[in-house]
Amino acid sequence: MHDQPLEALTFDLDDTLWDNHQVMVDTELGHYGWLDDALSAWLAERGQAPAQRFAERYPLAAFEASRRRLAETHPLRRGDFTWLRKRALREMLQAYGLPPATAAQWAEAAMARFMELRHRVTPHPEVEPLLSELGRRYRLASITNGNVDVQRLALGRHFPVAITAGELLAPKPDPRPFLAALARLGLPPSRALHVGDSWREDVAPARRLGMQVAWIAPHEGDQALPAGIHRLNHVRELPELLRRLTR
Ligand SMILES: [Mg+2]
Repeated sequence: MHDQPLEALTFDLDDTLWDNHQVMVDTELGHYGWLDDALSAWLAERGQAPAQRFAERYPLAAFEASRRRLAETHPLRRGDFTWLRKRALREMLQAYGLPPATAAQWAEAAMARFMELRHRVTPHPEVEPLLSELGRRYRLASITNGNVDVQRLALGRHFPVAITAGELLAPKPDPRPFLAALARLGLPPSRALHVGDSWREDVAPARRLGMQVAWIAPHEGDQALPAGIHRLNHVRELPELLRRLTR
């Protein structure tokens, strides 16, 4: 089917190797609740507790709005979620009455808590054996827009190349994270297949570069797709697709 065999696979992470929704809900509520409790206790100890708790004055919706505003005023940082979160927290904590250095420390602490919760992902049970198997035959890379550092996870050892696109200041669908992965793999796009769940952020940009694409889309029907794009219900179906493509 192809003149040139595939040599590498690049993987999106969130909602491709694990279900991300519940992790994000737990992380969002968990770190903000932690900040509110810890800060209230700390202020009370000092006899400085304001009438309103931090999360009463700035509910999660205010935090979200503040991140959106920052992303608009700092477009280069729009994909750097860690930076946006820390900066928004710092500004709200200062507005709440903390001195700048104290606000920065609490923002750091809340973000550390966020990152700890954010990494409590549970990959699909098939993923570990799948990556072990595929890693023998293909070079593997991860490309994520999220702030998961794949090397903090057990399955990070399968990814010698790991691209965190937001921190490149060029989140997918920008082609640069794909090009960065391909450059580090030392391969042209035609020798790689990208696996991802988002049409806009994974499928379209990878295909435009000339990569093959496995689109994880369990809720899409079997409509005809452009050449080079293959729909799967689940990442566990990837080995079968690769067998078909190399036949
Ligand atoms: Mg995804």
